[in-house]
Amino acid sequence: MRCRDAREKLSVQRGEDLDALDAGDLQEHLQQCSSCQELARRVRRMSGLRCEPVKPVQSGLSTERIMQAVQQQRRITQQFEDIRKQQQLRMQRSRPVMVAGVAIGVFTLSSIPLLMLAAMILQTNLVLKGLYLLSGVIDLAIILAQYLQAGLTVIAHNSWLLSGLAFAVVMMMGMWVRLMRAPREV
Ligand SMILES: [Zn+2]
Repeated sequence: MRCRDAREKLSVQRGEDLDALDAGDLQEHLQQCSSCQELARRVRRMSGLRCEPVKPVQSGLSTERIMQAVQQQRRITQQFEDIRKQQQLRMQRSRPVMVAGVAIGVFTLSSIPLLMLAAMILQTNLVLKGLYLLSGVIDLAIILAQYLQAGLTVIAHNSWLLSGLAFAVVMMMGMWVRLMRAPREV
């Protein structure tokens, strides 16, 4: 095919899809001739401006987009799967560390009473000293009670002294009562 024929065919085919038509010779020529190829491109562009946006572009783009979306989805799920696996691996790696941490925590918590017990055992000296002081106080109280008992027995033996003491107590109580009543009467 010569250039003139090719151009003629191209001009005739203007407005229609070049690829859809039976254009074996034309395609062959276009593959060889660069100038006619340029013309064909121009014709294609012009026809594309008029009618192409409706059919092939949209369908091609949509399927392409669907495929892209599917691939992207697949990639994302793959990434998620990878992340999940990594996390599982990390968990498996960090599990002994976590177990060790929990064990240390439990040990520390349970060792506090043991430590207190140990402190008590170690500081028995202090406890004994405290008990010794307490026993001293108790001894003192016992001695005082004994003195008091002795005095009481002396008073019991001496009835005069007892009656005098009772009289004194009664007098003091009376005075106390009168002193307490005095402000009310005034
Ligand atoms: Zn040509």
